[in-house]
Amino acid sequence: MIIKEAAFVGSFVKMEQYPVPDMPEIAMAGRSNVGKSSLINTMLNRKKLAKTSSTPGKTRTINFYKINQTFYLVDLPGYGYAKVSKKERESWGGMIGTYLSRRSSLQEVVLLVDCRHDPSGEDKQMYEWIQQHGFGGVVIATKADKLSRSKLTQQLRRIRNQLGMPKEAVILPVSSLKKEGSEAVWEALADKLKP
Ligand code: GDP
Repeated sequence: MIIKEAAFVGSFVKMEQYPVPDMPEIAMAGRSNVGKSSLINTMLNRKKLAKTSSTPGKTRTINFYKINQTFYLVDLPGYGYAKVSKKERESWGGMIGTYLSRRSSLQEVVLLVDCRHDPSGEDKQMYEWIQQHGFGGVVIATKADKLSRSKLTQQLRRIRNQLGMPKEAVILPVSSLKKEGSEAVWEALADKLKP
């Protein structure tokens, strides 16, 4: 993918604030600290366009990026914070649920998991949710530089099994540190990005 233009559009909470759904959209989901902002920056060839989860306020908003004037890449708020209240968790669920079920231009939701760990209960729930909403469920295993090649292969298989991924669904290892794997992610998404 050649990124000619990547612009941060804004961070929003309510549906009516989101950009007009006039272009295809891809969303990225995952627990906080999984490496989502790093991957977005790597995929877009930018150093700091996507803000890390330590940025105040970032955790509770949906962040939109407009790419090449032809599609939106969306950074969903990370989950899995230990210190989040029940009320905050519910508001997170409400926002994501509304987004997944009502965003008419949404073409795919990509789930990020850390390649070193087995998927958490929340990861499994998120993946089920993604599938229930009719998306294919591309899974990305982040921080691939942290494992040897053989361990990575083994771990990809484990993650695939534990998420119950269908045969045709893909799991792709990436390393933002080494700038590896992002082109394969774009390739997996290419047919969803056609206008
Ligand atoms: P987010 O909360 O999902 O947006 O995660 P970030 O992108 O902020 O990354 C969380 C932490 O993981 C940071 O300390 C990053 O430096 C680190 N990280 C992200 N991607 C990679 C990677 O590909 N390899 C390694 N080794 N560390 C990474």
